[in-house]
Amino acid sequence: MMGNKELIQNQQQIEEILSKAKFIRLALSESDTPYIIPMAFGYKDNKIYLHCSREGKKIDVINRNPRVAFEADVEAEIIITENICKYDVRYRSVVGNGQALFVEDYNEKVEGLTVLSEHYGKKGPFEFEEWKVNRLCIIKIEIEIMTGKQHGF
Ligand SMILES: Cc1cc2nc3c(=O)[nH]c(=O)nc-3n(C[C@H](O)[C@H](O)[C@H](O)COP(=O)(O)OP(=O)(O)OC[C@H]3O[C@@H](n4cnc5c(N)ncnc54)[C@H](O)[C@@H]3O)c2cc1C
Repeated sequence: MMGNKELIQNQQQIEEILSKAKFIRLALSESDTPYIIPMAFGYKDNKIYLHCSREGKKIDVINRNPRVAFEADVEAEIIITENICKYDVRYRSVVGNGQALFVEDYNEKVEGLTVLSEHYGKKGPFEFEEWKVNRLCIIKIEIEIMTGKQHGF
């Protein structure tokens, strides 16, 4: 791969990448076995919010090990000039890790859903049905480390 790669540690630039990313890859691990899934997300104040059902493998894994990592990227493109040996990749990306918590407080769940809705371009105020909020699982990732990187711009 050619060209300069630029590490981004400026919080505002990192948040800008996250604000444009459609999905996040959530990496979990249990007893040395990694598990990764794509998910919709929202970001606010150094926290990532996810919504999902209350059952499934990711819930079980987080219950056993709440330490998670994540990745998101935007504007990614591969540029092959002659063959795969002569290529470049343009991208902006963010990786980080933190602690995943299940949000139990009703108002905080609504806050998480609001952040998610706004991430996908919806404008509030929102009215979420109480029974749906209660049924949904909201996961909050408290970010500990997060860096950005860009290449090809
Ligand atoms: C672009 C995108 C966005 C998504 N957004 C959300 C979201 O916001 N909320 C949400 O709950 N889910 C979302 N999903 C689905 C998500 O990736 C998981 O499939 C889902 O959350 C179930 O995860 P689980 O750990 O409970 O899996 P389980 O239902 O317990 O899965 C059992 C097995 O299925 C396989 N599996 C699970 N997920 C996937 C997958 N995505 N691809 C291939 N194999 C899989 C694994 O081998 C796993 O062991 C999204 C998927 C995509 C592709």
